[in-house]
Amino acid sequence: TSTIFWFRRDLRLEDNAGLYHALRNESDVVCLFIFDIEILNDLEDEFDKRVTFIYDSLQTLKKQLEEKNTSLLILYGNPVDIFSEINPKAVYTNRDYEPYARRRDESVQKVLALKGCNLHLFKDQVIFDTNEILKDSGDPYTIFTPYSRRWKSKLNKFYAKSYPVEKYFRNFKLIPPLPMPSLEEVGFKRAVTDFPERIIKLKIIQEYDKQRDFPAIRGTSRLSIHLRFGTLSIRKVVQIALKKNEVWLNELIWRDFYHMILWYFPRVENNSFKPAYDKISWRNNLKEFKAWCEGKTGYPIVDAGMRELNETGFMHNRVRMITASFLTKHLLIDWRWGEAYFAKKLLDYDMAANNGGWQWAAGCGCDAAPYFRVFNPELQAEKYDPDHKYVKAWLKEYGTDKYPCPIIEHKFARERALKVYKKALE
Ligand code: FAD
Repeated sequence: TSTIFWFRRDLRLEDNAGLYHALRNESDVVCLFIFDIEILNDLEDEFDKRVTFIYDSLQTLKKQLEEKNTSLLILYGNPVDIFSEINPKAVYTNRDYEPYARRRDESVQKVLALKGCNLHLFKDQVIFDTNEILKDSGDPYTIFTPYSRRWKSKLNKFYAKSYPVEKYFRNFKLIPPLPMPSLEEVGFKRAVTDFPERIIKLKIIQEYDKQRDFPAIRGTSRLSIHLRFGTLSIRKVVQIALKKNEVWLNELIWRDFYHMILWYFPRVENNSFKPAYDKISWRNNLKEFKAWCEGKTGYPIVDAGMRELNETGFMHNRVRMITASFLTKHLLIDWRWGEAYFAKKLLDYDMAANNGGWQWAAGCGCDAAPYFRVFNPELQAEKYDPDHKYVKAWLKEYGTDKYPCPIIEHKFARERALKVYKKALE
């Protein structure tokens, strides 16, 4: 019997922790990927760009494995059902921190245990696992700065070291190429889109602290989709951050931080981290929500961001903060609506980071911006898009009479938000 290595959010051979351990400890390792129907069924768009990205990444992976005289078994279904039907010697995989994945893995573990088979889980997606950065009391951090301080002081060569998977390639099971299901067979169609390259541009990283806030500049790495699906190793990225730019490293620490928060406080999936904020009387006006989604609020920086998102699946971080603040504060629309819309559209959608970002913007998250800090979209645009380059790039009708008037006046919206928030927090 063979050992299975189960790929999930780690679609690469190089520096893959779980794959390394499987190959080092076992022989006859067969690689598996499951198109999980429980996840796919939630996707509404048959042209979902992320499914195309996964599909292409699997093709690459399969080809690389076939060069090593093994292959990639690709199945479609419910993972628990699939594992109840097969009898591997052991299953190795990398840990996934999302609530659904945790439930799924627990069920898979039970099903396998009945047959005397172990599910071995490894840390791969983050630098520090959830129990590796804790307060002296043993409690998780809920504030970023002390967390990041401890993160940095604990980091050494060991934690950022790559796993030399290639040393054990001989332990793959030798098998002829397996068939690859088509995208249509898993219920999707090919999205025509350009995905960000899997290249770490050192010049951008070096200038990151100076340029990262200007959406018209290519001042950020654009690696998020690769970190999301594991086509790039976080250890490799951190090695570069350590050498090139501490400000960039800080962003990678936020990524670990939000994974840790989601792990210890899975209730944040549907609830405000600070419970009092769930008393806010959101207005939830459907027409205004639609205007926001379509980029027709009459605030150019907000609209440009939403159009960028709708067209490309990407939005610059500064603009994510502005659009999220506008939805929750100016329009008083529940952050969960915005979060769900981003989840549908973002190529790099990741529950931990998205939920963290939304709760931060709405003021209800751990270590969030204080609620009385309401971004002024016009001032933000003046500061971060002074030449209107970004808004002009995304708003064809900018400056013409076709561009809509603001759907709400800033001063009025700000005061209304402060009143409503204050009432909820009384
Ligand atoms: P860079 O600035 O080059 O940063 C490098 C990497 O660090 C990113 O690729 C990402 O993996 C990580 N990172 C950067 N900022 C953050 C952050 N604030 N929190 C967690 N990780 C971070 N990021 C996602 O990966 N997925 C999401 O679904 C997501 N939703 C967001 C929603 C809102 C409302 C906000 C305000 C932010 C969100 N972010 C999300 C964080 C951030 O906007 C993106 O990671 C970043 O814009 C991706 O661009 P980049 O790869 O060029 O990032």
